[in-house]
Amino acid sequence: KLCLSCPGVHYVFDTTFSRNFSLLESQQEFVRRFHRQADDKKALPMLASACPGWICYAEKTHGSFIIPHISTTKSPQQVMGSLVKGYFAEQKHLPPDRIYHVTVMPCYDKKLEASRPDFFNQEYQTRDVDCVITTGEVLKLLEQEGVSLSDVDPAPLDTLLGGAAGELSTHPGGGSGGYLEHIFKRSALELFGIHVDSIHYKPLRNKDLQEVTLERDGEVLLHFALAYGFRNIQNLVQKLKRGKCPYHYVEVMACPSGCLNGGGQIKLEGQSSKEELQQVERLYESLRAEIPEENQAVKELYQHWLGGWGSERAQAVLHTQYHAVERTNSALNIKW
Ligand code: SF4
Repeated sequence: KLCLSCPGVHYVFDTTFSRNFSLLESQQEFVRRFHRQADDKKALPMLASACPGWICYAEKTHGSFIIPHISTTKSPQQVMGSLVKGYFAEQKHLPPDRIYHVTVMPCYDKKLEASRPDFFNQEYQTRDVDCVITTGEVLKLLEQEGVSLSDVDPAPLDTLLGGAAGELSTHPGGGSGGYLEHIFKRSALELFGIHVDSIHYKPLRNKDLQEVTLERDGEVLLHFALAYGFRNIQNLVQKLKRGKCPYHYVEVMACPSGCLNGGGQIKLEGQSSKEELQQVERLYESLRAEIPEENQAVKELYQHWLGGWGSERAQAVLHTQYHAVERTNSALNIKW
């Protein structure tokens, strides 16, 4: 816990907690879209929304064509913004603008996400996330202060509901949040009554493009994929434009190998980026993996703060919208 070495930091929360909400909402959104696919041609495939690198690209390059496919569920960073400036501020009897909320993230694009007008509270003139620093920047700050993490006594993380202090945790399904795995398993059960214990990923052209299917009597019931890195994303979008995308859901992430390999991660001298990534993956896998629907604090917040599972308030607080950026050539004023 960094607050011991960073004067002025009063509470430190784990973003895994807010990711519980992102996973639960994404899965429910997927089921809703699955049910309306016959009437709404853009309901599926549903494309993940947690990666701002991908969202920026989609809005700028493919605008109104692709936006209806993107999940409206907020990313874990922005759900945490709503929890901190909403729920937590209320608990502390503070207006949201009296809290300065900093997140530590693996990439620079999360700074762009935090600065989106959709996450600005007009009434209090404050952002849900005031500042984003990357893990690499945290290390630099500590070095500037002459602090070595190994000299700092570890302290437990804070929890939003108070009570027992938490330890770092994660979700099953890889280093980009486990969206595919969570949505696949829960939807297999909810839509078809099929329990999926473990997921078999089938690599396609490269390890950043893999697919997963659920079949019954030779019929494909669910067809999911993960597409990481812009090469795979571009191919996915082309398939979608040609009406040849076979998937119901795609976990899209801009970085090759996903978030653990984010551009803002710490770079260690003398280690290749491949070794570094393997080390980060090992550390990440060593954390306790939690199941979103089993988290008591999440249940309590849905019930008492959000007005219940699937409520209008949950929809308003935990979802967002996207904006097509109309690209014009200013000299010729030609719409691309
Ligand atoms: Fe950031 Fe890369 Fe993860 Fe996207 S995939 S959220 S750009 S670290």
